[in-house]
Amino acid sequence: MRASKQSGASAILVINAGSSSIKFALYDASAQSGDRLLDGQISGIGTAAVAADIPDQAGDFGHLPEAADHEAAISWLLWGLGKGGVEIIAAGHRVVHGGPAFSAACLVDLSVEAEIERLIPLARLHNPHNLAAIRAVRALWPDLPQVVCFDTAFHATQPEIATTLALPERLRSAGIRRYGFHGLSYQSVAARLDVALSGGLPQRVIVAHLGNGASLCALREGKSIATTMGFTPLDGLIMGTRPGLTDPGVLLYLLEEQGMSVQQVSRLLQKESGLAGLSGIGADMRVLEASTEPSARFAIDAFCYRIVREAGSLAAALGGLDAFVFTGGIGENSEGVRAKVMDGLAWLGAKPDAAANNARAGREPSLISAAGSPLPVYVVRTDEEGIIAAETARLAGSD
Ligand code: AMP
Repeated sequence: MRASKQSGASAILVINAGSSSIKFALYDASAQSGDRLLDGQISGIGTAAVAADIPDQAGDFGHLPEAADHEAAISWLLWGLGKGGVEIIAAGHRVVHGGPAFSAACLVDLSVEAEIERLIPLARLHNPHNLAAIRAVRALWPDLPQVVCFDTAFHATQPEIATTLALPERLRSAGIRRYGFHGLSYQSVAARLDVALSGGLPQRVIVAHLGNGASLCALREGKSIATTMGFTPLDGLIMGTRPGLTDPGVLLYLLEEQGMSVQQVSRLLQKESGLAGLSGIGADMRVLEASTEPSARFAIDAFCYRIVREAGSLAAALGGLDAFVFTGGIGENSEGVRAKVMDGLAWLGAKPDAAANNARAGREPSLISAAGSPLPVYVVRTDEEGIIAAETARLAGSD
């Protein structure tokens, strides 16, 4: 939780409702810069350990109801913010899955809500909570403009050949295709790098969003042309608790031969695999890096190996590579992972600068490849909430 300014201004509320947490931030709506006034979160939703981390400036919230579910936690948060000194003039929400219908952020009306609800089967872990937040805001403040920003929308520029799954027509026409996620992060990183580099964003770029969820995106002239996540955020890279790319035959085997239920397979893929499954220790990269267990080493090696392989695939889709970018909790903070991945990208021209790679990443994009490295490599801090605030200001007509 951070609070950078005393509140009192008119603000845009950004809500990022996840499966067990609700993150929020207030952005100054009166300043051109769109400064972040404060942020906080409620975590452990749906468990006995539900807890709120709210800065004092946000006001006096009183006690969070015990064992609050999403509805209760959001209502409590909005009620507390409503009592604070800040005038909220619009709310922006992150929505994970926009399906085929949404290729850009938009203002919420009842038909948009209904469409997000219709998309729940595509993102059961996320869209219901995103929708609950939208409805809670509407219940409390019916006249407040609300904007939805989709993690899938940034990938709407991908060509059909990149998004098509080789399935029969009846399934393809039912919307079963690759969508891609982490779009708000890619939008944020591309914009920041474009501003920071004197020549603007290079033509062919791969961005590696490495966090608890992880994916790569190939950008040509700033637009997504391919990405490693697909129909759901389960595809592609090894993640904290998800295995990423896995032969679908494994799933058939588990269902048909091992007698696992659909729920058990779902749990395996969402919660028990990835770094946690490989290491047997956990999903947290900091813990794995500090561990001397061989399984922790192997998990990190496998994580980096998959990134390098998938980067090769995206470089082929781009027809070459002009820059590689790290972002996300691991990408921004783990010099060990970055060094290993750069090692694997030597064939594409990556030559690391060890000192730059070991330095703590700052607010501005930093170059971590050596001077004259044929492939420049950057670390760029992602700011998904900042993108949501900017889109909300634009669509709600407050900038
Ligand atoms: P995110 O989902 O983007 O918040 O990223 C979460 C991941 O970032 C977790 O695996 C963390 O262990 C990892 N992470 C955060 N800080 C560090 C750090 N200083 N070094 C290595 N990994 C980190």
